[in-house]
Amino acid sequence: MKAVVLEKRGKDGIRIGDFPDPARPQGNAIMRVKAAALNHADLYMRDSGKGITHELPMVLGLDGAGEIVEADPESGLKPGQRVITYPMEFCGACQYCQAGEQPWCRDLSIIGEQRHGTYGEYISARAGCFLPMPDNLDWTQAAALPVAHMTAWRMVFGRSPLRPGETVLIHGIGGGVALAALQLAILAGATALVTSGSDEKLAKAKALGAHEGINYRRDKVADRVRELTHGRGVDMVIDNVGEATWGESLRAAAWGGRIMVCGATTGGHPSADLQRVFVRQLQIIGSTAANLDQYRALLRVVAAGRIEPVIDSVYAMDDAVEALDRLEQARQFGKIVLTIP
Ligand SMILES: [Zn+2]
Repeated sequence: MKAVVLEKRGKDGIRIGDFPDPARPQGNAIMRVKAAALNHADLYMRDSGKGITHELPMVLGLDGAGEIVEADPESGLKPGQRVITYPMEFCGACQYCQAGEQPWCRDLSIIGEQRHGTYGEYISARAGCFLPMPDNLDWTQAAALPVAHMTAWRMVFGRSPLRPGETVLIHGIGGGVALAALQLAILAGATALVTSGSDEKLAKAKALGAHEGINYRRDKVADRVRELTHGRGVDMVIDNVGEATWGESLRAAAWGGRIMVCGATTGGHPSADLQRVFVRQLQIIGSTAANLDQYRALLRVVAAGRIEPVIDSVYAMDDAVEALDRLEQARQFGKIVLTIP
């Protein structure tokens, strides 16, 4: 099959060309990929991959949508069925799987990280990694949905949900998770403040329902948040930026506020400012992906037409290197998608 293959680290390590077709062990299904979406994890795999057990060469890609080609009859999946990926293979038997928390599975294997991903014509994964695709989405929209929206869902509606009337600060609007969080915050009845270094992105976010945009190149984010919240601060901060924003996140949070962390693209070791954390009784909640219940709830909301992913751009699989460059340079507003011929 044709695939986007990481052969060695770095931009020069990506080859687009032939790769062996995947096998289908018992319990797996094979999907013909129609579209796949980019995530920051792809850049991490391309450039480092540290801490993630895997072997090169590997097919990149966490997100995808397509048609089932082959599956065990008892899996409930049928050839020709339109499906969307759940990016995590889980064991189904450990204490966490049994408690419904698949992201904590002790035998977790993430598509595009620990095993071959979606940037190829075919992907083989356990049958539980394929869910029916909402009918009202096209391939591009469906591929754009999983990782960004499930990650946002678990933060907004997970352990300490955002409530109607609360205010949330979302850093780096334009990224897939940030935009998904904006959509879900509005759905929750919250007021959303968003940040960007681009006035154009802030204007687009306001058109999508953000209450106010803060340009971090012009304003100190926390100072502006204080002004906009009459000195109170926000109830929730969604931060996947890391070192560059952490200090502002802590200062922007209201007393008792919670800071949701689902990434650290600018570095993972900011100053902790523990005095502020305990004096103001802040909660810091780490989050990644979502469990299957949360994912199914998201798919129901999408199927009901309440939200749909924002697409920045669509590239042919042959142009995957350029697509990754666009993501790396943070030029996007929404998801960047590859079409798989
Ligand atoms: Zn498990």
